[in-house]
Amino acid sequence: MELCEKIYASQWNYYEAYRDIAGPPVGALQCSYAFNQHMLSFDDAWKFEGQFIARFAKESGLPLIIHNCGFKPYHIELIEKLQQEGIQIQAVNASHPLDIDWWVEFRKKYPEITIMGGLHVSAEMENGTPQDVENRVKEVIKKLGGTGRLVITPTCCMPWRVPLSNIKAVVEAVEKFGAYPINID
Ligand SMILES: [Zn+2]
Repeated sequence: MELCEKIYASQWNYYEAYRDIAGPPVGALQCSYAFNQHMLSFDDAWKFEGQFIARFAKESGLPLIIHNCGFKPYHIELIEKLQQEGIQIQAVNASHPLDIDWWVEFRKKYPEITIMGGLHVSAEMENGTPQDVENRVKEVIKKLGGTGRLVITPTCCMPWRVPLSNIKAVVEAVEKFGAYPINID
């Protein structure tokens, strides 16, 4: 726990330096890597990471964007716990579960939380064709875009091998299918 405290102090120092130079941000994207079912129990993830995430949100007063690029994130458990702590969750940026219908259910449960994602950086973005990318963006907009609060974005970082043609296909697909009102067959 001593090491966790030191890491927190270092992160807080970094945040203050950023804020002093760039001004206060509107939210904080936090990477809750410990919150994966294949890594730690929820309680241990909370002990070693979650309580520090909560402390940061309280001390900074910022709403959180949750990022988790693991395969089995504790999305619901983490959101519930943070909300119990009085912390506002602005958005979730995550790829897993890959099943879009899981995110449709998520949207019903948390209509106020923006979903940032929809692009599998290690799937169609890296290995697919521009048509695969278009199909994927179209499906995500169709299922999650109707009521707003959707940002089509990569989940985590774009790998180096992503072809430019696939990045261009994202923009084109958003322009093609993303205008409101969403009307996709
Ligand atoms: Zn990531």
